[in-house]
Amino acid sequence: MTWTPPLAERVRNLKPSVTLAIDAKAKAMKAEGVDIVNLSVGEPDFDTPQHIKDAAHKAIDDGFTKYTAVGGIIELKGAIIDKIKNNYQIHYKQEEIMVSTGGKQAIYNILQAIVDPEDEVIIPVPYWVSYPPMVELAGGKPVFVQTDPETNFALDVGKIGEALTAHTRAIILNSPSNPTGSVFTKEQLRDVAELAVMHGFIIISDDIYDAVRYDGCMYENVLSVYPEAKEHTVLINGVSKTYAMTGWRIGYAAGPASIIKAATKIQGQSTSNPNSIAQKAAVAAYTGEQGCVTEMVTAFAERRAYVLKRLAAIAGVTCVEPAGAFYVFPDISSYFDKKTPGGKVIDGSLALADYLLESARIAAVPGVAFGDDRFIRFSYAASLETLKKGMDRFEEALGMLIKS
Ligand code: GLU
Repeated sequence: MTWTPPLAERVRNLKPSVTLAIDAKAKAMKAEGVDIVNLSVGEPDFDTPQHIKDAAHKAIDDGFTKYTAVGGIIELKGAIIDKIKNNYQIHYKQEEIMVSTGGKQAIYNILQAIVDPEDEVIIPVPYWVSYPPMVELAGGKPVFVQTDPETNFALDVGKIGEALTAHTRAIILNSPSNPTGSVFTKEQLRDVAELAVMHGFIIISDDIYDAVRYDGCMYENVLSVYPEAKEHTVLINGVSKTYAMTGWRIGYAAGPASIIKAATKIQGQSTSNPNSIAQKAAVAAYTGEQGCVTEMVTAFAERRAYVLKRLAAIAGVTCVEPAGAFYVFPDISSYFDKKTPGGKVIDGSLALADYLLESARIAAVPGVAFGDDRFIRFSYAASLETLKKGMDRFEEALGMLIKS
């Protein structure tokens, strides 16, 4: 008889990260020689800038290859403190910073540090795929608050107020947003911050796309508009998206010392310090010349304009113009209930994404993974040539759907 090793309750219903799963599938197809256009995962196509790589080489040559302090080296925390001060005029101390293995681990550890079983965490919809599972892994309950394209995915503070209960522990904000690219207004941020202070919950402000903003849109987060909420806020950020450093895995949390200390304790009992070499590289990223960031954002802006133009020309597709990040999130629901040439009914965003992958060889992430089935997400962190090919295929594939 074969024996199936039992798995823990917490993992039985845990779904894999859809963004990473689709990216892995697309990369595997590519490795097999399939001509796939991968617009799934949010990963800048640029190489990591040379001066950052040089700092990593130097770290290796200097033998900086041992354990570091669990929450990150003083030099990197200092660079992070300076960066936050420059961009947001907020002052942090060393003990208020934790460096982690990517922004993702920073969020995970923070949630583990603040969420008790039965606690509720408010998550605006559409949301990044990993927020709800992370809340659940901490034993908490995600509470969803819908936002819609008609209002540019604005936060409705009235709805957030209605979602508050005695169990509300936190809210997760992500502006610019993955997947919508929307940026919350000053008023929306201030209203949420006031609610947090009044009702005593924590704002986890995931600012990972803060450098990728368009049309002169300035750095802004919940604390730059409402510094009084500092003790109620944990800022999350990292080098992945800003400096094309997704594989280096360096992110951070900045927040009240008690929360940072607790989250760092969790890190110390799970992964120890983030990679020592990558930490040195991150110091170079934050303290070095920033022209590389401007160059990448300028390229993203050109690509955004191109993709928006292409989407606008496709009948039945509508798309909010993103103010930041590198995603478009078009509404494709007018194609639901149509049939593929092979006779399959497109009954939602997952079916459409499958059809695009299998028939048109274009990888995109279905909206359902972000909590809203009306949409599909394309990353435009890809060359214009790739985007042209992708949009050509998307348009053609939609045109082949048959009314059922
Ligand atoms: N955050 C990126 C995305 O949404 C990277 C993949 C992930 O960690 O989800 O595509």
